[in-house]
Amino acid sequence: MTRIDVLLQGIPGRSSQGYLGQASAALVDESTVVDVGSLARRPLLTDALDEVGVDPNDVEDVLLTHVHFDHCDNVDLFENATVHVYEEELARVRNGEYDWATPRNAAAMLDSLGVEPFALGDTVGGLEAFPTPGHTEHHVGFLLSQGDRTYGFTGDAVKNTREVATENPMVLHDKREAIETIRDVKSRVDLVIPGHDSPFYIEDGAPVPTVDVDFGVNLQTSPEAAVTADLSTSRSTLRELPEDVSLASSRQAFH
Ligand SMILES: [Zn+2]
Repeated sequence: MTRIDVLLQGIPGRSSQGYLGQASAALVDESTVVDVGSLARRPLLTDALDEVGVDPNDVEDVLLTHVHFDHCDNVDLFENATVHVYEEELARVRNGEYDWATPRNAAAMLDSLGVEPFALGDTVGGLEAFPTPGHTEHHVGFLLSQGDRTYGFTGDAVKNTREVATENPMVLHDKREAIETIRDVKSRVDLVIPGHDSPFYIEDGAPVPTVDVDFGVNLQTSPEAAVTADLSTSRSTLRELPEDVSLASSRQAFH
């Protein structure tokens, strides 16, 4: 049975002072990593790998849903891995076609690591790449079928439960395409490992969350006062994760 360890849980919180950019990273069978998180999450990512007993140097394949900073920053942590990027997305960054969330050094970074382009429908790192355009033009997701359940690693094509419930996604490219993508994901995926939320089920087209996380955001507004922001979301119905999916529990201490 293929095992999935969610190394970084995405956070669905929003801020009036910029995007939080706290994206998911998942480990499949201790050898494939899907998305790698922003530099802000690097210590948390290494802690999570420690926790599951995997040396980053032993990871064989890194798959990126798209080349945005919050999904690709830490790609160099996996020095021995083959980095897999959709061929159209790789061409975009090599051609210098940047939106605001694409690191300007992305092409140099990927080329220095031995990136391998793939096509839609290819199997990479044991997962099937499928088109999920809208958030960005060349966004891809990855599918894993296990038993009678299909898992979808959706990156920013499906960021959180709200986007499934409302079909009102945040996009940088094409909203109509993004809504079609959400509907497509709903029709073929049973458990979503989303870009910016904890894993959730899709049942009858609606999201069913699995965990309610206290993210512990500590706003250090003055030497005297530290305010903890409540980013917990309303989770009226929670369902347990399947036994082949686990969440790394590492949390960094706040200072
Ligand atoms: Zn993105």
